[in-house]
Amino acid sequence: MQIRAAVLDRMETPRPYAQTRPISVETVSLDEPGPQEVRVRMTAAGLCHSDLSVINGDRPRPMPMALGHEAAGIVDAVGPGVLDLKRGDTVALIFVPICGHCNPCVEGRPALCETGAAANGAGTLVGGERRLHRPDGSTLNHQLGVSCFAEYAVVNRGSLVKIDPDLSPDIAAVFGCAVLTGVGAALNAAGIRLGQSVAVFGMGGVGLSAVMGAKAAGAGKIIAIDTVAAKREMALACGATHVFDAADPELVNQLKAAANGGVDVAIEAVGAAAVLEIAYQATRRGGMTVTCGLPNPKQIFSIPAVSLVAEERTLKGSYLGSAVPARDIPRYIELYKAGRLPVDKLITHRLTLDQINEGFDRLAAGEAVRQVILF
Ligand SMILES: [Zn+2]
Ligand SMILES: [Zn+2]
Repeated sequence: MQIRAAVLDRMETPRPYAQTRPISVETVSLDEPGPQEVRVRMTAAGLCHSDLSVINGDRPRPMPMALGHEAAGIVDAVGPGVLDLKRGDTVALIFVPICGHCNPCVEGRPALCETGAAANGAGTLVGGERRLHRPDGSTLNHQLGVSCFAEYAVVNRGSLVKIDPDLSPDIAAVFGCAVLTGVGAALNAAGIRLGQSVAVFGMGGVGLSAVMGAKAAGAGKIIAIDTVAAKREMALACGATHVFDAADPELVNQLKAAANGGVDVAIEAVGAAAVLEIAYQATRRGGMTVTCGLPNPKQIFSIPAVSLVAEERTLKGSYLGSAVPARDIPRYIELYKAGRLPVDKLITHRLTLDQINEGFDRLAAGEAVRQVILF
């Protein structure tokens, strides 16, 4: 079928994107779903910082690529072998296609699925297929098995989680990346316990979700750090008890003073090695640092090695919220419906597909948290 999709031809195009227009919205052809594949009609898709990292080259991916990895939609058709989804089901799309059979999957850590990671790195669906073609016959790469800045997408069954059909599409869309990653970092990776002090660095969609997750877990002090005053205000609305300016040279001392010598848990959601160092320094003896940002692969991080032993500090990475998506997304949706995870507060803008370049300018300038394209 013919669909409209947002395509990135090359990385590192300079801003402003409203003028340089690195993303073109094109009519392309979408193959029928193959075995274990599903065609989804997109209802809403969120603009994420990880998309921006592909556009600006921080996270290199094969080009040209049909962008987008955070969305919700309706099942339109299922390919051979898909027995547990049917046309009309509401689904959230997740950015790791989970195979269910590799070592991490069978160990209960599907966010690390080896099959999914290999396909994502290659820009294909699981099985090596590329389902999008330009009129000249050339083939487009998929972004993280999703490519949801498009009217429809064909994805692997493992990229989908069936969800409550009653959520509005813009809300449903953010569960697949921002909420799963941020809330999961707080609940699964950090395992925040009642009354613990938590500092979260970077108030984008993931960081604000981590703040909400910390609050839902019953954290005591929840300290949010960002350079942008408006985002610190949003953090307070999402459950932060204290906010600090990331640009303050006294930041570490302020954090230690606010949390009786250091926080129990620091969550780094910026994706910058320098911020990760500060997050680590802000923890108390015995504290835990969880990082869920994605820095440029060239960045190097250094800590005093002895502190891991002599101070029993823990440093953990968390990908996709260390989630089991089919378990966690329905739980987080229930928390949202109960008013305990107000993810609607993440959404600052609603766009059309044709406004996508302007949307990424806004994200790069720190003027937006979650912008959602409505189809
Ligand atoms: Zn994302
Ligand atoms: Zn797997």
